[in-house]
Amino acid sequence: MRKIQMVDTKNQYLAIKKEVDESIQGVLDSASYINGKAVQDFSQSLASYLQVSHVIPCANGTDALQIAMMALGLQPGDEVITPSFTYIATTEVVALLGLTPVFVDVDPVTYCMDITSLKNAITPKTKAIVPVHLYGHAAPMAEILQIARENNLFVIEDNAQAIGCDYTFPNGETKKTGTMGHIGATSFYPSKNLGAFGDGGALFTNDKALADKMTMIANHGQSARYYHDVVGCNSRLDSIQAAILNIKLQKLDSYNHARFQVAQFYNHAFADIKQIVTPAVNKYSTHVYHQYTIQLVGVDREKFIKHLGDLDIPCMIYYPVPGHLQKMFGEGKNEHLHLPVTNALTPVVCSLPIHTEMEEAQLKHIASGVKSFFNA
Ligand SMILES: *Cc1c(COP(=O)(O)O)cnc(C)c1O
Repeated sequence: MRKIQMVDTKNQYLAIKKEVDESIQGVLDSASYINGKAVQDFSQSLASYLQVSHVIPCANGTDALQIAMMALGLQPGDEVITPSFTYIATTEVVALLGLTPVFVDVDPVTYCMDITSLKNAITPKTKAIVPVHLYGHAAPMAEILQIARENNLFVIEDNAQAIGCDYTFPNGETKKTGTMGHIGATSFYPSKNLGAFGDGGALFTNDKALADKMTMIANHGQSARYYHDVVGCNSRLDSIQAAILNIKLQKLDSYNHARFQVAQFYNHAFADIKQIVTPAVNKYSTHVYHQYTIQLVGVDREKFIKHLGDLDIPCMIYYPVPGHLQKMFGEGKNEHLHLPVTNALTPVVCSLPIHTEMEEAQLKHIASGVKSFFNA
């Protein structure tokens, strides 16, 4: 049995080494390292996979969120609503741009934005909502989009953890996550479901004017060479990463299916352990299992982690401190916020290894390791 890891990018690479190496070699031969043909090809392939009009590649997922907020013309003092229960990048860029992050709670079943909490957070200063499709499960987009329409708000989907996930509207129409709001943002960080061999990110939109603006902002606000119309940044996806992503995009559905099968194995293995809450899937969403996150009910989490560690089973806490309690937003400043679900989930969540290269023996070892903790 191979050593168990949270992600196994090495063996995933080895399985597609020939194709990837050839694709990288193509970029080296072309010597077109920035914005080369591989970048154009990848953007087009991703747009057709997602069924979205425009894909704008950029340097990473955090930049993607920042560029989205810049393109929407958000101004200092504007309020942007995001869940507290997410990776820090979502809220960090809000603060970086001088906007005001407004933290809302999540749903205890899907771990995505809670609709009541969202409604209660809207003020005359609210300008945008940033739902996060956390762990690979879609946020309740029909409700979020309706609230946005009623209140004239922008919606930026943080799709960094859910590329390939499908959301079905009440009328039966299905769309890929990241393509329903005004803008979708994603990351190609190596451990993401569609991961590069370095940093990368992209923006999605069906709005041509927004697409042009984001393209401009990602390239120093440039409209024509050396003519800079707006303040932008330098955020590029390099050609080598795009060449790798071109190959991996073709495998994305099978990769997500492999993750799904790991999740089914775990769901089945833990079904009888009453102290474990396995991840639920709402009827409106598929699940691409960026993470397989369980809740440990009435369990000493430190002991559980130690027990698994002794058996060479890694696990991770995503995330040990919720956004609203991070020091960057002011120590003690947000402690009064009423985010009961976020505060209750943080001490009990635990994510188990899930990736595309898991072996049957590894899964069995993890299942028996978890069970032995509960003497199950
Ligand atoms: C990974 C991630 C990001 C940031 O992506 P980077 O490419 O690391 O900058 C943003 N939001 C969420 C939810 C993420 O998981």
